[in-house]
Amino acid sequence: MAFLDLTTPPFGGLRPYGGPEPLLSTLPTPGYVIDENRLRENGKRLATLARRTGCKVLLAQKAFSNYDFYPLLSQYLAGTEASGLYEARLGWEEMPGKEVHVFCGAYREDQFEELLRYAGHIVFNSIHQLAKFGPVAKAAGKQVGLRINPECSTQEGHAIYDPCAPGSRMGVTRAVWNREMSPSLLALLDGLHFHTLCEQNSDDLRTTLEAVADKFGDVLPKMRWLNMGGGHHITRPDYDLNTLESCIRHAQDTWGVTVYLEPGEAVALNAGYLVSRVLDIVENGGIRIAILDASAACHMPDVLEMPYQPPILGAVAGGTEGYPYRLAGPTCLAGDVIGDYAFAAPLAAGDLVVFGDMAIYTTCKNNTFNGMPLPDIWTLTGEGVLSPLTQFGYQDFKSRLGRI
Ligand SMILES: *Cc1c(COP(=O)(O)O)cnc(C)c1O
Repeated sequence: MAFLDLTTPPFGGLRPYGGPEPLLSTLPTPGYVIDENRLRENGKRLATLARRTGCKVLLAQKAFSNYDFYPLLSQYLAGTEASGLYEARLGWEEMPGKEVHVFCGAYREDQFEELLRYAGHIVFNSIHQLAKFGPVAKAAGKQVGLRINPECSTQEGHAIYDPCAPGSRMGVTRAVWNREMSPSLLALLDGLHFHTLCEQNSDDLRTTLEAVADKFGDVLPKMRWLNMGGGHHITRPDYDLNTLESCIRHAQDTWGVTVYLEPGEAVALNAGYLVSRVLDIVENGGIRIAILDASAACHMPDVLEMPYQPPILGAVAGGTEGYPYRLAGPTCLAGDVIGDYAFAAPLAAGDLVVFGDMAIYTTCKNNTFNGMPLPDIWTLTGEGVLSPLTQFGYQDFKSRLGRI
């Protein structure tokens, strides 16, 4: 429940389950709803940060790439960040005229020329890759960067999301830099990039920046820019913007760099819902389990990967008061469990269950395992109207598997 406020639009005053639902009851489920007002609020907060500090904020498309909303977001952002060729092309096509940055763990020779068409800033993950592709990128007039690894873990419990974990392949450590960097390769570099945070506040950025200064402070004055990656939870209500601003100013003043941030989550945080319905209720050992038409494994994979428990409108995550249920998907995966929630009234087949914070790492990450349908996507417009964006069906499942 942490980020959901039932007293404000779009769902304030509506009964979140058990109907009748003026807005949602007619929606075919499962369906994602992207909330334009929330996207706009996030965009404004990021644009204010950019205006106050002079930093540039990019959308990390791997978290949210529903490009119909790029025209809205482009009013507030400097451009997009991509993880490879396809995302770079998407950013170039759908946010025309804006910056396109790309970072990839390793670039492919057969794609690099096409990538140069789309990306203005190309960040390499190793000094080998810098040596292999950097001169070509430079000759094409591109800005060239290198990802560094400050070896500063600030997150606990999520080793899968910690690029500074021991043995990580992400970024060049200072020891490797000292062994492999040459003056001619250094001369290719316009900027450095680090990405070490995940859903974190600015105190962890400050800690990281101290490690960056300690390890790479001598080379930063030679750079034009410093990209501080993503993982900054800037649009979360308790995020400390003052500390972020002082980190940005410190980098600008100390090293004379332009600062880039490339949040994914923060751009679309709390800007989407996954609307589902209860199909059945079963019981095992005193636990009542509601089987939904939405699946953790297919429609919210980070619930299992991260793992985390998403908020549900009108229910208490982990609660035991009232009517507790375990919510689960209809797939054959025993672990397709979303979590335990307490509701104020009993659930029944047909009831709506609305998950919050479902714009990020969902529509761009879902799958059709078990032949599950891809949820349709709806827009909740600024005027409070639900309008269909895309619909999916059997062909979308079949076309990924063979000749149609
Ligand atoms: C994942 C990632 C981001 C975005 O991270 P969020 O946690 O969604 O803000 C930005 N840059 C890079 C290099 C990433 O890998």
